[in-house]
Amino acid sequence: MAQIKNPLELYKILKKTNCKECGVPSCMAFAVAVVQGQKKLAGCPYIDNHLLEQFDGKVAKHKSLADDQEIVLKKLKQGIGSVDFASAPTRLKAKLVDNRLAINCLGKDFMIDQAGEMVSDCHVNPWVLIPLLRYILHCTGKESAAEWVPFGELRGAGDWSRFFSHRCEEALRQLADAHPELVFEILHLFGAQPLPGKPLADQSLIIYPLPRVPFLINYWPPEDGFGSKLNLLFDRSAAANSDPESIYLLSRGLVEMFRQLIVRHSRDGKLF
Ligand code: SF4
Repeated sequence: MAQIKNPLELYKILKKTNCKECGVPSCMAFAVAVVQGQKKLAGCPYIDNHLLEQFDGKVAKHKSLADDQEIVLKKLKQGIGSVDFASAPTRLKAKLVDNRLAINCLGKDFMIDQAGEMVSDCHVNPWVLIPLLRYILHCTGKESAAEWVPFGELRGAGDWSRFFSHRCEEALRQLADAHPELVFEILHLFGAQPLPGKPLADQSLIIYPLPRVPFLINYWPPEDGFGSKLNLLFDRSAAANSDPESIYLLSRGLVEMFRQLIVRHSRDGKLF
């Protein structure tokens, strides 16, 4: 039998009772999940053994996000081997400690060795790891341009802009509205500093997810019947020291980290 790529081919052999015992809302949703590699066919207890034998292993394997990230990380780690660690600290605004680069990310040092392996007191996930490794490889060391621009104006932002405003700025605004004290307390814990000079908003705070890639968070709380506003701006030099995908990943990672911390520390353990 040829490889199965179409969920309808699997749907035909399911019981079609939508009993949910497989953990998804319907037989069709289960068929889609199997084809996407999120569920095993054996997860439905009502498939005959002979059908299971016939169909299992025939489902075309889809690569998951984790698989894709693993491939990207492998290539990046290989590239780190050819970086000159002796001269890199100046370019990266980092330190060299015991033959490892110590790169400060939101007030915490992440230590990276020449094999691209990273250790830190914080949990290391791909939101951080991929941008940090790309930073080591591609940061040009360009000094701050002292000019704040929206994400869409960074060179190469292109398609990422569509996701950025919804998944990063809008998501962070909603969290700041629901838990203003907690959000700004966490930001200060991560080393946020007020924008020098005249603030652009009620809260104008600078954070450093990467030493040469500052983010400026501007927040206007709701007032007199007007809704709140939040934007994230970047120094124009960010495009020379990082790349739009990394900046998007760091911003998403920041929002996810806030979500997790809020659930853990808010009085009722709820986001909204
Ligand atoms: S357990 Fe099987 S029959 Fe029940 S909803 Fe899932 S796929 Fe359909």
